[in-house]
Amino acid sequence: MKIIGINVHDIRFPTSLDGIGSDAVHVDCDYSATYVEILTESPELRGIGLSFTIGKGNELCAKCIDYFKPLVLQKTILEIEETIAEIWQKCTNHSQLRWIGPEKGVVHMAVAAVFNALWDLLSKYYKKPLWKYIVDMESSKLVKKLSFRYLEDAITRGEAVSILENKRRDLKNSSRSIIESGFPCYTTATGWLGYSDEKMTELVKQSLQDGWTHFKIKVGQDLQRDIHRVKLVRDLIGPNNKLMVDANQMWSVDESIININKLKKFNLYFVEEPTSPDDILGFKKIKENVGNVNLASGEMCQNRVMFKQFLINRSLDFCQIDSCRLASLNEIIPVMLLASKLNIPIIPHAGGVGLCEYVQHLNIINYLLITDNKTYLSEYAESCCEHIERPAKVVNGRYITPQEPGYSAVIKPSSVESYNFPNGKFWSSKT
Ligand SMILES: [Mg+2]
Repeated sequence: MKIIGINVHDIRFPTSLDGIGSDAVHVDCDYSATYVEILTESPELRGIGLSFTIGKGNELCAKCIDYFKPLVLQKTILEIEETIAEIWQKCTNHSQLRWIGPEKGVVHMAVAAVFNALWDLLSKYYKKPLWKYIVDMESSKLVKKLSFRYLEDAITRGEAVSILENKRRDLKNSSRSIIESGFPCYTTATGWLGYSDEKMTELVKQSLQDGWTHFKIKVGQDLQRDIHRVKLVRDLIGPNNKLMVDANQMWSVDESIININKLKKFNLYFVEEPTSPDDILGFKKIKENVGNVNLASGEMCQNRVMFKQFLINRSLDFCQIDSCRLASLNEIIPVMLLASKLNIPIIPHAGGVGLCEYVQHLNIINYLLITDNKTYLSEYAESCCEHIERPAKVVNGRYITPQEPGYSAVIKPSSVESYNFPNGKFWSSKT
């Protein structure tokens, strides 16, 4: 069965109107998706993939995908499966596009959208949820589909196969437990920076009633207000629930040290992105000067090579991979394998559009096949789930294991139509 067409949509939801997603630096997010539909000879079988962005620039990501189409069109699904590593290498190392990368930014996120769609297509072809398709694959076959380029000094393919094989020994028990109990997550949806005290209070109380035990709030605009907000939430959730803060890169290294030392009395489980997401040495310096406060980062870590340095240098304590910033499973699984080798927990970034749907699969793959670390946690924020056909389900602060075929981030056709930018019904009515 052949791939006969690729459609790309620039979809934008007007979330800035409600302050959803607002943090110290992203004050007016319109949660958006560069949305790819891969059409096959069978009208029922389509690969759907996306990259999450926050408004302007989504069209650049969409445009970039046009350049990758010839590498995929007219190939059979089995050819794609067999040569997915080579196609990935051709896209990430496109002889001209690489000049405006390489392997970072718009080009890399465009690759993510295409490969998220291809992995969705493959798992649908075999009628399995993505996590199951990966778990059922022979370890050596899986490793051949991944990119270890520039990682070989830190982890070899042989080591990767050993990690996978070791985990397989307990697969029966671990599969049963994840399906029965779900995967633990924390909520970010109660503490956007644009929310008033009243709105945060109401949302935190509701979330406690819904069974949440881990809460993250945004900080980074004004220290006195940050202290006030952190105290407010800590008082609401009590001493035993976990509280994290996210500064979204707002502070310098020295400001991070001062501010974290002022906030740490509220017993923070971690501080996320205090400073530039590229500052491997800065993160280490912060860690050395804030006592036992854990740092988390990764949603803007541009590729596996950056992660290699963050992980080996112990510049972060929690590794927050992003399912669209890294160029899909080809690169994400190697990062998870390296984190496993170094015993560093993975706590994926989620929220936005489709990220919760993606990470629910990545968490299970990591849990069943990759990590022995006992910290199991993932982000959740239910933004935009009304536009997703089968949104990730969370009950009592746990992701329920998805069982439908595919990688789950499928936007409803009516939402694709209305929120297409700039000609969909919603946006054309605004101009
Ligand atoms: Mg964050």
